[in-house]
Amino acid sequence: MDFTLVNESKTISGIKLYISPLLTRYGIVHGFPTRQGGVSQGMYSSLNFTTNTGDSPEAVRENVLRFLQVMDTPPSHSVFSHQVHGNHVARVTADFSGFTPNAYGVWNADAPCDGLACDIPGISLLTASADCSLIFLYDPRTHQIAALHAGWRGAALDIAGKGVEALSEAGADPRDLVAFLPPAIGSCCFETDPDVPQAMYNAFGTAIDPYIAEVSPNRYRVALQRINAHALARRGVLPHNIEICEICSCCHDEFFSHRRDSTKRGLTRALIRMPL
Ligand SMILES: [Zn+2]
Repeated sequence: MDFTLVNESKTISGIKLYISPLLTRYGIVHGFPTRQGGVSQGMYSSLNFTTNTGDSPEAVRENVLRFLQVMDTPPSHSVFSHQVHGNHVARVTADFSGFTPNAYGVWNADAPCDGLACDIPGISLLTASADCSLIFLYDPRTHQIAALHAGWRGAALDIAGKGVEALSEAGADPRDLVAFLPPAIGSCCFETDPDVPQAMYNAFGTAIDPYIAEVSPNRYRVALQRINAHALARRGVLPHNIEICEICSCCHDEFFSHRRDSTKRGLTRALIRMPL
């Protein structure tokens, strides 16, 4: 399908962000940061957002607060997903019910949710990745956004479709939606056992054939971003409104990568917000 391939970045105060030309045109604040511009050291260097792999809490705190400041959003107006490789999309409301402030003063989802949806300008949604495909959605007509974490398990649970559904339930027409898939692991590096392609075929049927290649007996390369883009398109999002940045997070050291570095790594968080 003719998705739109993009490769655009900008640097603000030393933090390099990959961005979507379409979301930029609509004035949506957003970005997928690289590793640069933070204070963490060694294998966490440097803009790391998690303490789960052993980084110092002070450094992570500084990174989170620095990134939010650069993106011009206070912690009290920022929301973190609670990712479990599932497909639940939580809606963020003005009273933040279902969310509790964390150690940084950012709202954390109380229950697992790999997706966040919101129709309130000024609230930033942040989803985490170290190879996993992320999806940002924006509806210019009903003014809603969503941020989805779609690694292979979430992709096979059709979190992309669940995100479209969440916005549609609040009045969006999928044909109006704009989507951006920032850098993630590419098919060059995402070599898997048969379980991954099988899960994808179970979810999407043979329509995803072009995005899976058998490279040796029982070994496959999977184009995760393309499968997520297909999942959006089959819900009615127009392919030319789906922007994919296909830079591979595993090939390029400017990103954290679980496939490359296992747990000796940090994690990034990408952000989307409708301006006030
Ligand atoms: Zn690669």
